[in-house]
Amino acid sequence: MVIAAKKSSLQSQGLVISSSLSALDTLTGEAAAQVMELLDVTPATRILVTDPAGRILFDTAEDDDAAGRYALLAEVRAALNGRSVFFCSYTGDVFTSRAAVPVPSASGVLGAVYLSESDAEQGEIIHGLQRNLRTVSLVFGGVGIVVVYLIAATLTHRIKKLAAAVNVVSAGDYAYRLNVRGNDEIAELSDEFNDLTGRLESTEEARRRFVSDASHELRTPLAAIRLLSDSITQSDGMDGDTMREFATDIGSEAERLQRITEKLMNLTKLDAGVSQRQREPVEAAAVVRRTLHLLEPLAAAQNVAIVTRLDESCAVRAAADDLYQIIFNLAENGIKYNVPGGRVELDLRREDSDVVLTVSDTGIGIPAADIAHIFDRFYRVDKARSRASGGSGLGLAIVHDAVAANGGTIEVSLPETGGTRFTVTFPAAESGKEVRS
Ligand code: ADP
Repeated sequence: MVIAAKKSSLQSQGLVISSSLSALDTLTGEAAAQVMELLDVTPATRILVTDPAGRILFDTAEDDDAAGRYALLAEVRAALNGRSVFFCSYTGDVFTSRAAVPVPSASGVLGAVYLSESDAEQGEIIHGLQRNLRTVSLVFGGVGIVVVYLIAATLTHRIKKLAAAVNVVSAGDYAYRLNVRGNDEIAELSDEFNDLTGRLESTEEARRRFVSDASHELRTPLAAIRLLSDSITQSDGMDGDTMREFATDIGSEAERLQRITEKLMNLTKLDAGVSQRQREPVEAAAVVRRTLHLLEPLAAAQNVAIVTRLDESCAVRAAADDLYQIIFNLAENGIKYNVPGGRVELDLRREDSDVVLTVSDTGIGIPAADIAHIFDRFYRVDKARSRASGGSGLGLAIVHDAVAANGGTIEVSLPETGGTRFTVTFPAAESGKEVRS
């Protein structure tokens, strides 16, 4: 604003003077002095009038009259070349502005009018403006630094709390939870951390229970084997029949150990997601037939009839071994927990885009209170009956994990007519793919 105002005031003064002078035939110092007197120019402005060669004809400065000398100024040279120019500078709190305009005539340029002004008042305005800007910048800068420091300190404090919590949890305290406030990213991260720690805690709890249950299950047959072998080695003159009986018991306990370890292996494989990699389209009816063939002797011994209704076009994308485990454990349970003369029915059918397998029996059923737990590892409703029939409490846990690993669902229901019904549902495999049976 200061510069624009100064430019317009100096240039218009210069133009008025130059147009007054351009009316003259020849430019002389006297003529210029007369025009200046008439125009009543501002005393603060120094005005020079030069001839076309740049020689000063007139100068308003009385104490330092430069008339007769040459004005070696860039502005004057520009004006003599026909250009109207303006320059200004602000140094040492003084605002200086200079303008030069040509004095035109019909034959060319008669000379130049040079105006210069040093304005302390405008200089003071600019100086004050600068001072205020500096103060405002300093205040804003200071406030900014304090605010940034406070934000950084709060963030660092919360991140340190999170890091400390990670250390506590990695040291094994899975019950530790972070107290989170706010709803920013750190609060979100802390929530995620608490969720993760919660999951870790339950996984760790399940792992401990599993290890303790597994060792308990393995200890029982091992203790029996130890007792039986001690009895054989420590009693002198044991008769052959008793010894054979003891040896047979050792054999059946070893068989139990083998069954438990095999099932544990199956569960470990499912935990590791091994079957995930081996999924392929499998014709379920063929697997059912193959599995039931293996269970025929058990069914005959328990006097239980197996009835099947198998739809042939029931391909599912699954690991064949997992499918076998599912069918075997469900059908074996149907036989084991049945009554003499009872029945196990296997029904395999296609329902829209699903393949549904139901295994129902006419057996002893499951008390409603136990239903929620039957898929838990080592859970047995009737420990004595399960043990007597060679059960380990792992069969249904394997079924559950194998169904989930192959993208299926399992439900258990208790029909009003008695017994138990398991319903397994898998998405049907796309037709046209090679099916292994
Ligand atoms: P187990 O090896 O003891 O049979 P499972 O995991 O296969 O273990 O089954 C868990 C428990 O669920 C069994 O001990 C049994 O009490 C009960 N159960 C499973 N299937 C049936 C069934 N078809 N009828 C009655 N009870 C069953």
